[in-house]
Amino acid sequence: MKDCIVVIAQHAHGRTDPVTYESLACAWALCGGDESRIRVMVAGDPGQAVARELAAATGFTVTAVENDGLGDYNADAYLRALGPILAGMAPGYVIMPHTCFGYDLAPALAVRLGAACITAAEAARMNGGKAVFVRTASGGKLSTEVVPETDIVVLTNQPGAWKPLDNKMGTGGTVETVRSDAGPVRSRTVGFKQPEYRGNALAESSVVVAAGRGIGTRENLALIDDIARLFPRSAVGCSRAVCDAGWLGYAHQVGMTGATVSPKLYIAIGISGAVQHVAGIRDAQTVIAINNDPAARIFARADYGIVEDLTRFIPVLIEEYNKRYGTPQEA
Ligand SMILES: Cc1cc2nc3c(=O)[nH]c(=O)nc-3n(C[C@H](O)[C@H](O)[C@H](O)COP(=O)(O)OP(=O)(O)OC[C@H]3O[C@@H](n4cnc5c(N)ncnc54)[C@H](O)[C@@H]3O)c2cc1C
Repeated sequence: MKDCIVVIAQHAHGRTDPVTYESLACAWALCGGDESRIRVMVAGDPGQAVARELAAATGFTVTAVENDGLGDYNADAYLRALGPILAGMAPGYVIMPHTCFGYDLAPALAVRLGAACITAAEAARMNGGKAVFVRTASGGKLSTEVVPETDIVVLTNQPGAWKPLDNKMGTGGTVETVRSDAGPVRSRTVGFKQPEYRGNALAESSVVVAAGRGIGTRENLALIDDIARLFPRSAVGCSRAVCDAGWLGYAHQVGMTGATVSPKLYIAIGISGAVQHVAGIRDAQTVIAINNDPAARIFARADYGIVEDLTRFIPVLIEEYNKRYGTPQEA
């Protein structure tokens, strides 16, 4: 099929990963309303179940790729199984999420297909009939626009950037099965280990006070606790940088690979606002950001912004609060 748009589904434990619906939204934006151009591809186990789920939810034609070596995701196996099928389809775009799945597979697939590889696309716009993709650089401070120069484009969509496709856009919804003879693979995935359940307290709290690398030291978490104590149903969250530094456990991480939170109030302190972090607070009702860099990307998401050194601002805030209302324990 010429110029079709193929979405490669990400799935685990027999369910479609929600981020796949964001890839589908990206595909929908590119197809110009022509549903017949969209094909969804499911590889790995249990491909059939996931393919049926996706076909029913989207109405698109879904191809379940079966191969004995497929099982859990493995770049080598996926590449060998999907590469020849995709080459035969000559798609205009092959889209997958920019997750550890997508950024592992996409570049290798692009090489295999002789395609441009555009990663972490956050938006697409048409310019003179050509698609222009927007992606960020320099930790979110720059926005770049990329135009592919090849007929085939392998694209990864930045999680959180595209509103998931939540309507049945297709009118078909059939599943077809394709056997792929991938031959022997060079490595095998032996399984996935589920991290401890993240963010129970985060999910239940109406206020989340989150620390970023900008707090500077583990000791400054006391400042975050001071703010969290002002609210009865609050929890402390953080960016991945804070977890990576070992200042807080990964159960506190908010974002694409952490918890998704939807509190009434989210206070981002010393957090730059990387798209992976902001993906986790899309449904927060009100966002306040405290950051000493007026150009920090978090201010684009914030409803209220405080441009100040957090180590100066928070003690003054607490002191003022205590003067007016007494300490939180007395309140
Ligand atoms: C595949 C992938 C998945 C990821 N998943 C996540 C995720 O789920 N969650 C997540 O958070 N990140 C995630 N990341 C990492 C993300 O890209 C960023 O690196 C991370 O969010 C940055 O954390 P930060 O904002 O705390 O640190 P930085 O980007 O270093 O920002 C620190 C901020 O603090 C400010 N600051 C510094 N000093 C002060 C001060 N004294 N007072 C006030 N402000 C100050 C600075 O101006 C800056 O804006 C992921 C990355 C990848 C590639």
